[in-house]
Amino acid sequence: MSKTREERISFALSISTDTKEFIMGRGASEKAPEVFLKYFPGREALIMADVHTWPALGSRVFGLFESAGIPVLKHIIMEEEFHAEWKYVELVDGLLDANPEAVLVSVGSGVINDLCKLSSHHHSQSYLTLPTACSVDGYSSFGASITYQGAKQTFSCPAPVAIVADIDVIAAAPAEMTAAGYADLAAKVPAGAEWMISDFVGTEPIHPDAWHVLQDYLDDFLANPEAVAAGDPDAIADVFEGLTLSGFAMQAARSSRPASCCDHLFSHILDMTEHRYKGKLQSHGFQVAIGTLTMCAVFDELFKQDLTAIDVDACVAAWPSLEAEQQRALKIFEGFPAPRLGYDEITKKWQDKAEVRRQLEKLKEEWPSFKKKLQGQVYSYKKMRDLLKASGAPYEPEQIGLSKQQLHDMFQKVQLMRYRYNVLDLAKRGGFYDAIVEPLFAPGGPFER
Ligand SMILES: [Zn+2]
Repeated sequence: MSKTREERISFALSISTDTKEFIMGRGASEKAPEVFLKYFPGREALIMADVHTWPALGSRVFGLFESAGIPVLKHIIMEEEFHAEWKYVELVDGLLDANPEAVLVSVGSGVINDLCKLSSHHHSQSYLTLPTACSVDGYSSFGASITYQGAKQTFSCPAPVAIVADIDVIAAAPAEMTAAGYADLAAKVPAGAEWMISDFVGTEPIHPDAWHVLQDYLDDFLANPEAVAAGDPDAIADVFEGLTLSGFAMQAARSSRPASCCDHLFSHILDMTEHRYKGKLQSHGFQVAIGTLTMCAVFDELFKQDLTAIDVDACVAAWPSLEAEQQRALKIFEGFPAPRLGYDEITKKWQDKAEVRRQLEKLKEEWPSFKKKLQGQVYSYKKMRDLLKASGAPYEPEQIGLSKQQLHDMFQKVQLMRYRYNVLDLAKRGGFYDAIVEPLFAPGGPFER
């Protein structure tokens, strides 16, 4: 890698809008009281943990704060299994209401961190996070992903002022959590390609700092899946750093655009429908693994298309009205926990015929060079499958309890459920949607039914 870890992190902190400190290393949790005193002098610490993270790190941090003379409280969420749902936001809000001097110290993985992030924002203050697993990129991201009224939503709220990541603790987390984090990082490969597409059509230009802070090193961070699976602290530190840099990218862009696109929407559908496999909700990263792999397969098909041959007039003539798209969305989302989601999002992202014509003419003309750029970014299905498999993440939909038919049927929702422009939107405009989706599920395709 062209820069050292120290240089990479110092650049990330220079572009971040909320986070002032990111300490990562073996035994780093010893520094938590010092960091707390630096940013929250005179305040009380309220440690939030769960039944797993309290013994793994919380009780130790509690002791460290006591020894440092910092008044410290704790709350342990006792449920064995819980997701980021609104009722827990209310719980943490209530704790802060009852303890107005307290500042949250999140000791846990993605869910606890997101709860602390949003509740701190509700109380116009920041917090300190101590990640216990290399499982998601949310520790340093702007926004919290919470299920509210049936729909998975990203609430705008600042990232923590400080992150103290103890690699000894993180590397000791269950291997499947680390594999999930690896997959969440791998998602930045197709997500980056879809950002290039929205940049190409001009809907969401690439933010250079937010791009370079992670994408310049992404291939290196993903290069050692076997070592990640073996629990090697250095390899896990690379993945954790990658995930955290991804959060900094989101801070700089004030959006989750740098970190997710369709790869994540498959996961959002599964969250909203409370999809279970063998009775268990599947982790964010495991769901994202399948979304990521699926999108790499979509790009394989995209690269087989000759888009210089697009009949722009015919595509523009066939382009549906907003009303038609709204009706289509209502039909597709009928019976879904958030039945108006597709309607609302397509209303935001529908474009008129003149704009569709402009995009297709540009695509037709620049396809050979643009295709090369995309190919330099995205991995093939085969490469992504090998990496995910080696990391211990799922690489077949059945491994998270999804049939290939279910995966197929999710596509139409995925295209419509976010206002953000994605590769499927481009394909709808250019009339090659079926050509890049259906072969995945046809005989000989990666998800042959
Ligand atoms: Zn994610």
